Amino acid sequence: MAHYDLIVLGTGGIGSAALYHAASRGLRCLGLDRFPPAHDRGSSHGESRLIRLSYFEHPDYVPLLRRSYELWDALDPSLLTRSGILYAGPAESDTIRGVLASAEQHGLVVEKAEPKDFPQYVIPEGASAVFEPDAGWLPVESCVRAHLAAALNHGAEHRWGETIEGWRERDAGVQVSTDRAAYSTDRLVIAGGAWSSQLLAALDLPLTVTRKHLHWFECEDPRYRHGFYIELAHGQFYGFPAQGGRLKLAEHSGGERIDDPLCASREQDPNDDRHIDAFVADHLPGVKPARLDHATCFYTMTPDADFIVDNYPGSERVAFAAGLSGHGFKLAPALGELLIDRVTGTRSDFNTGFIGLQRFTA
Ligand SMILES: Cc1cc2nc3c(=O)[nH]c(=O)nc-3n(C[C@H](O)[C@H](O)[C@H](O)COP(=O)(O)OP(=O)(O)OC[C@H]3O[C@@H](n4cnc5c(N)ncnc54)[C@H](O)[C@@H]3O)c2cc1C
Repeated sequence: MAHYDLIVLGTGGIGSAALYHAASRGLRCLGLDRFPPAHDRGSSHGESRLIRLSYFEHPDYVPLLRRSYELWDALDPSLLTRSGILYAGPAESDTIRGVLASAEQHGLVVEKAEPKDFPQYVIPEGASAVFEPDAGWLPVESCVRAHLAAALNHGAEHRWGETIEGWRERDAGVQVSTDRAAYSTDRLVIAGGAWSSQLLAALDLPLTVTRKHLHWFECEDPRYRHGFYIELAHGQFYGFPAQGGRLKLAEHSGGERIDDPLCASREQDPNDDRHIDAFVADHLPGVKPARLDHATCFYTMTPDADFIVDNYPGSERVAFAAGLSGHGFKLAPALGELLIDRVTGTRSDFNTGFIGLQRFTA
């Protein structure tokens, strides 16, 4: 049986970053996945992901976000485009209050924006708007490939086309079994995305998987050069700078709960289409109503929409990231590094209590 210093289960957004951090520390490591690099069957595909610092979800993400900015730039400076993001919503909304609170607590640059200065977005009467110049976007598939390529350059092995069937801790380490082989390892990192409940079955994690939709519309209007995140009374919508005559957008709220990500439909959902078409018609006057493309993707939600990144209970050599709740990609480098710190006994100064497993087991 082949033996490794460290094995990563799942080499999507987070696992590819973990594999790179393990390999760059000189560990002999293996990454395993069912699908090929940067595939479109999980949660890390669809051209782009927003990245932002003034984090309305929770201010404690900000130090991890700062580290992620550093690590993305170090991995390849062409990955992160600082296009700026416009946030809009009622002054007391989670989005606006959260952005301002994070910015104040961490001294981040955000500018109060006048809706009239951004006429390409129709912002509801009386709403507040804030512009964050350092926010931007990442090319998601290129990021996964970049982490895997950097891991391989440092000597990591990557095997895809293998389905992980189980793992178990033994006195001397951890054994992993797939449909093709068995492996042993001193340390294990689990980053299974929408399949986390299966790979961590004994923990009975409170995760739900939802099917989400991405839409591309025709847009030649050069004013759409920023990202945007707009909170309305009936939901939150976000989008990316237009590129090559296409603008990508999606609804963050909602989503259809699914049981088996391998069997979920990849077709459009009339309900989601209706929300998106109405948003385009009502709020993006320079975007043409013609839909050019569509894709589906999975959110893996926790009850409080914060991640779970922790050691496996009672284990110093197994750690996992799960329940990234539709906002984890931007943090992949810092989470990958944190997971490797966790299984190598490396001190980390980040406050991670807010993403600890304990909040669901206490
Ligand atoms: C539509 C959409 C929009 C999003 N927008 C943003 C955004 O703008 N900004 C942001 O930061 N985040 C965003 N996110 C969230 C972010 O993309 C995810 O949190 C992140 O990509 C999850 O990475 P992951 O590694 O957990 O999952 P994945 O990348 O899916 O990786 C999990 C891997 O594990 C493998 N695997 C699982 N089980 C097995 C098994 N038994 N055998 C073999 N392999 C297995 C899978 O094949 C997969 O490759 C968005 C997500 C979606 C769906």
